[in-house]
Amino acid sequence: MNAEIIAIGSELLTPFRQDTNSLFLTEKLNELGVEVAFKTIAGDNRAHLTSAAETALSRVDIVIFMGGLGPTEDDLTREAVADALGLELRRDPEIIAKLEQRFASHKLKMSSNNAKQADVIAGATVLPNALGTAPGQWLSGKLDGRERIIILLPGPPHELKALFTEQCVERLKKKLPRTFLATRVLKIAMMGESQCDARVAPLYQRYPDVQTTILAGAGEIQLHFKAQAETLEAAQARVDEVAEVIEGELGDFVYSDQGESLEQIVGYYLQMRGATLAAAESCTGGLFAERVTSVS
Ligand code: AMP
Ligand code: MG
Repeated sequence: MNAEIIAIGSELLTPFRQDTNSLFLTEKLNELGVEVAFKTIAGDNRAHLTSAAETALSRVDIVIFMGGLGPTEDDLTREAVADALGLELRRDPEIIAKLEQRFASHKLKMSSNNAKQADVIAGATVLPNALGTAPGQWLSGKLDGRERIIILLPGPPHELKALFTEQCVERLKKKLPRTFLATRVLKIAMMGESQCDARVAPLYQRYPDVQTTILAGAGEIQLHFKAQAETLEAAQARVDEVAEVIEGELGDFVYSDQGESLEQIVGYYLQMRGATLAAAESCTGGLFAERVTSVS
């Protein structure tokens, strides 16, 4: 199964705020064997949100919306998802009562705009939010003949994390076929990206079930491998096999095959040989020593 994560909030389309929630969700989904096929960021605009929801529902099995569940005018996720599904919103008196209790316990009177947080998409299960006012929602069922899971989560990261971990992981496990995702990373130095790919592409192309990504960074190339299988061991065996074949081809250009950093590897060699390292730095302002000493 694959997923799309939709981050909602006009602030996420400015240079000042970043969508970090999707990094957390991607890690959790991968652990469940779900691949994230798309990530979308949409501003607080009902028509844009509805269009993003429709697109996502047409192309993946699991759609997770996050943000835009609060009480203010610009919180439009519930309305947009209901529009995209052609379903109604129903105000849930139980949620209203809980909201009123929450405000009363803080000796506050609830302002009327809070009531919209009690709007539930017809057929959805409410996911109570112990850390905030906006509950999440879970919907699953057939859409256009295909099984789909739709999850609405609040935007504040601590609320989203708690809600997903405590209320979505087990629910998802029950719905998902048992597949496991294994990953492996090779790090390569002293070689350019095109030179590296020219040598390894003919090898990894022989493994269509292993997804390979080549990433060029400062002073290194990374090769990422991903495979899914019915057991973690079987998935791991697939990525290990490709990694081994590629290490065989590139030899000493591969400096790390278990995710270690360059400075970690330098540290291993120093320890192994009982050697020490001295640095006299000019122009780097101590950056070289900083990297080496970042590994204890
Ligand atoms: P909202 O649920 O849209 O009212 O969002 C509440 C707050 O959660 C925002 O002000 C952001 O600080 C934070 N937030 C919302 N979405 C994200 C996201 N995708 N990544 C990180 N923080 C977020
Ligand atoms: Mg918002």
